[in-house]
Amino acid sequence: MNIEKIENTLQLPSPIIPFTPDWEGVERVSLSVKRDDLIHPVISGNKWRKLKHTLRQAPSSIQGIVSFGGGYSNHLHALGFVCHSLGIACNAIIRGDYTQHPSPMILDLMRWNVQITYVDRKTYARRHDEDYWNRLQLEHPGYLIIPEGGSQVSALRGVAELVTELNDDVDTIVAPVASGATMAGIIAQLQPSQRALGIGVLKGEGYLESLVSTLLPSPFTNWSINHNYHCGGYAKIPHYLADFCASFNAVMPFSIEGVYSGKVFWALRDMLAQGCFEDGERIVVLHTGGLQGAR
Ligand SMILES: *Cc1c(COP(=O)(O)O)cnc(C)c1O
Repeated sequence: MNIEKIENTLQLPSPIIPFTPDWEGVERVSLSVKRDDLIHPVISGNKWRKLKHTLRQAPSSIQGIVSFGGGYSNHLHALGFVCHSLGIACNAIIRGDYTQHPSPMILDLMRWNVQITYVDRKTYARRHDEDYWNRLQLEHPGYLIIPEGGSQVSALRGVAELVTELNDDVDTIVAPVASGATMAGIIAQLQPSQRALGIGVLKGEGYLESLVSTLLPSPFTNWSINHNYHCGGYAKIPHYLADFCASFNAVMPFSIEGVYSGKVFWALRDMLAQGCFEDGERIVVLHTGGLQGAR
């Protein structure tokens, strides 16, 4: 598939900026933020990275794309915009029925002529099942089916490119973990002296590690996931986190939201205060974008 028309509009490599909040322990490390939130105003951060090679490898003969997500999905938002820009049909299978109260994300999909199918939780739970996929494929002849979050092995290569863009000037890359494909793509491209630190954004000790490991081409050891900062579960934004994001956004040079980046910076501040990093450690925090979801 020819995705050049999209690529010409992207800010890549994404900028990397020094980050110097007045947080306890920050003076002992070197901190930067990889601004994947700036790749494109609509196609948010890691979702472009994950889609890039999946789309590139798709034959130009495909009739359209089917994918899955929640009512605020950054993945469906990015995919819907890409399909609209390239003139490709798109069917979004969305968990829950938003007919009466479409989210801002869904309203965007409608504007972009994305066909929307609302499914109940039980049906949505089958999104990885082979027989469900076979049925979807029969219902959508010639369509490409992309899993939730765009997370599959073909997503790793695009994510790995962000590590290459860092030119080895980093010891530790910090990133949020949900489906694990972003984390896996980072890990696959690390030098042996480097490590990746994932922040689990949902309750998934053991589960998130297995998602990442399953996507990796071979076992790696220089990574771990911290599970202390999911703040109650996926998309759970307790008051302390909402307050943290609001005060962060009031003074910092970029914005965060509560589902992904807010939890990463919340974790970072606490881990710095606790002295979890080496003196002089060069830490790069990946800003994965996703601010549309907070609308
Ligand atoms: C989807 C998403 C993530 C999670 O990435 P995974 O590859 O699913 O682990 C992180 N941040 C943002 C902004 C996202 O939209």
